[in-house]
Amino acid sequence: MSELQRFLFDGLPVRGAIVRLDDAWRELLARRAANTETGAYPAAVARLLGEMLAGAVLMHAHVKYDGTLILQIAGDGPVRLAVAQVDSSLQLRATASVTAPVAEDAPLAELVNGGGAGRCAITLDPRQRTPGQQPYQGIVALADDAGQAFADLGQGLQHYMQRSEQLPTVLVLAANQEVAAGLLVQRMPLSGEGNLGEGELPPDLDFERIATLAASLSREELLTLAPAEVLRRLFWQERLMGFAPLTGAEGPRFACTCSRERVAEMLRGLGEDEVSSIVQERGEVEVGCEYCGRQYRFDAIDAQQLFTAAGKQPPPPSRVQ
Ligand SMILES: [Zn+2]
Repeated sequence: MSELQRFLFDGLPVRGAIVRLDDAWRELLARRAANTETGAYPAAVARLLGEMLAGAVLMHAHVKYDGTLILQIAGDGPVRLAVAQVDSSLQLRATASVTAPVAEDAPLAELVNGGGAGRCAITLDPRQRTPGQQPYQGIVALADDAGQAFADLGQGLQHYMQRSEQLPTVLVLAANQEVAAGLLVQRMPLSGEGNLGEGELPPDLDFERIATLAASLSREELLTLAPAEVLRRLFWQERLMGFAPLTGAEGPRFACTCSRERVAEMLRGLGEDEVSSIVQERGEVEVGCEYCGRQYRFDAIDAQQLFTAAGKQPPPPSRVQ
C-alpha cells in the first residue's frame, strides 16, 4: 500500500520524509495503458512521471501547504508535457503527452528537450483562493550552474530546494513500472541561525553524516524495500523518530478531480460555433480526461444545452460515463 512517512532525528537539526507509491502508481499506469488512443507510457516516460509524482509528494509534505502542488515540465523533446499533482489530502494524479518514440534508457535531457537542459515549473495553488490571488510559481532548472543537464529529476529538485530555502538537502527519487518512491533529508536551522540572514548555514557534522548516508541509498533499494526497512538500513545507528506513516485513505492515493461539469465548462469556453461544428462532423462531442481516462460524451442535444440557461445546471450524475 502506498505510504508517506515524515521523520526527525532526536536532538539533531535534520528532518526528512520518505514516500512509496505502489497501488496508486500502478492504478495510474493501468489507466493509461487502458487508453486505446495513447497506450501505455514508454518505460523512460513512466520513470520520469513516477519521479515527478514521488518528488511532488515529498515537497508537499515538506512545505505542508494547504492546496495543490503541481510539477510541470514543458519541453520540445518527445515528452511535450508532463504534469504531476498532489493536493493537501495526498490525492494525486499525473499525465504526460508523448509525441515521438523514446528509447528505454533515454536520459532526462533527451526526454524533455532533445538534448537541451529543460525546466520544471513548481506551482502552489491554494485550496481557498482569495479573489485576485495568484498561485505561487517557481522554476527548477534541469541543469546545473555550468549548464550541464542533471542526470535525473531528483538532482534538479534537490538543487532547487537548496537554492530556494538555503538549506542543505538530499533528495533521491526512483520509479519503475511497479513503484515510484523517494527520500528527502534536509538540514533545519538551529534556533537563531535562520535569522542570521547570511545565506548558507554553517556546516553541521551531524547533518553531513546523515546526508552521506541518505545519498548512499540506491535506486534499487528505494524501489524494492518498504520505507521502514529503508530507514532502518540507512539510519540504524541514529536516533530516528518517525511520525505515524500515512497510508490508505489518509495516504497518497490516485484520484482525479475531473467532472462532467468541468468538461461542460471547457466546451462552453470553446464556443457554440466550434462545438456545433464538431457535432455536425462526428455526431457527438467526446472528451477524454487525460489523467484518468474517463470519457465524457455530449450528443447533439447535450451540446446544444451547454449554451442554453438550462444547460448551465450541473447534469445528474447518471449522465457521467
Ligand atoms: Zn479524470
